[in-house]
Amino acid sequence: MNVPFLDLKTQRAAIMDEVRSALDEVMESCAFAGGPFTETFEQEFAVYCGTSHAVGCGSGTEALWIAMLAYGIGPGDEVITVPHTFIATAEAISFTGATPVFVDVLPDTYNMDPALIEKAITPKTKAIIPVHLYGLMADMQQILEVARAHELFVIEDASQAHGAEYQGNRAGSMGDVGCFSFYPGKNLGAYGEAGAVTTSDTDIDARMRAIRDHGQSAKHTHTHIGWNSRMDGFQAQVLRVKLKHLDAWTDARRAHAAAYTEALTNVPGLVIPTEPDGLKHVYHIYAVHTDARDERMKALADSGIGSAIHYPTPAHLQPAYAELGLGPGSFPVAESLAARELSIPMFPELTGDQRAAVIAGLGG
Ligand SMILES: *Cc1c(COP(=O)(O)O)cnc(C)c1O
Repeated sequence: MNVPFLDLKTQRAAIMDEVRSALDEVMESCAFAGGPFTETFEQEFAVYCGTSHAVGCGSGTEALWIAMLAYGIGPGDEVITVPHTFIATAEAISFTGATPVFVDVLPDTYNMDPALIEKAITPKTKAIIPVHLYGLMADMQQILEVARAHELFVIEDASQAHGAEYQGNRAGSMGDVGCFSFYPGKNLGAYGEAGAVTTSDTDIDARMRAIRDHGQSAKHTHTHIGWNSRMDGFQAQVLRVKLKHLDAWTDARRAHAAAYTEALTNVPGLVIPTEPDGLKHVYHIYAVHTDARDERMKALADSGIGSAIHYPTPAHLQPAYAELGLGPGSFPVAESLAARELSIPMFPELTGDQRAAVIAGLGG
């Protein structure tokens, strides 16, 4: 049996008619860049996340960048984040002119270790960016406590965590702002590039709206130096259709995860993901960890099963960050996870037979 790592086609087929008519509305109105469809999506997504506002933009990377610009973060500032993430988290910090300062992650949740934050704070620190990796929220309560004590902003990188919850609070609603990616493979994915920032701070919302639209506070009044990062009408309409299905898709992901977890718990040499009490994991990625990653990946491939690695090299060991001078051994947990992580097929439309094949391929 062939099991792809990710299958976007089955889902697209299931919602094709809805998507086509939603896209027809954009063509009829010609509201292509920003405009009413984007505004409606922004309102619906804010409600979904439990915030007052959402600002649509060009990508998740730009969402992070725009949020930091709105807080005035730039050259000379430091922003604390984790090395065990997609490069965009660190890259967005660097692109403001600020410096990323990494802290290691926890070996069980793979998310920021709150106990390490305080030591990383300097007079230059402006913000903390926890990443809700794989769909599990970071320990927001502890992170917020440290942030409040030091008057730092908290910018959630919720790019992998649409609909995830921490004690009933959705991703994007606990920090000062939450940044989302709608890259096609994300749990809520556009048919192209898109992102958004959620917030309940009206001033920051206004500043981010201006930044993503040439710094305009009113038509022809450019109050800030901004940029063009408007969300387009087609993406907004695709996202509006998909948002209605998101909770059902999350339930399907969680059911697949529960089946994987039950079948793989006792497989020797395999570490499976955990979901701490009070948290709701949305399983963007179902990550297992094993010392025999290459062998297991090859065995899966030999049985026609796709897999992937998220991420083989932590940010601090990327050539782009050589200038930080952080060699191997700087963040032992992140480095160990990077050497052992293996992502197995996870998407809502996975069939029972496909799931069984993956489990069998891993010796479960
Ligand atoms: C996908 C992702 C991003 C970047 O989003 P894009 O829309 O691809 O720019 C940032 N952070 C994390 C954790 C991501 O997974």
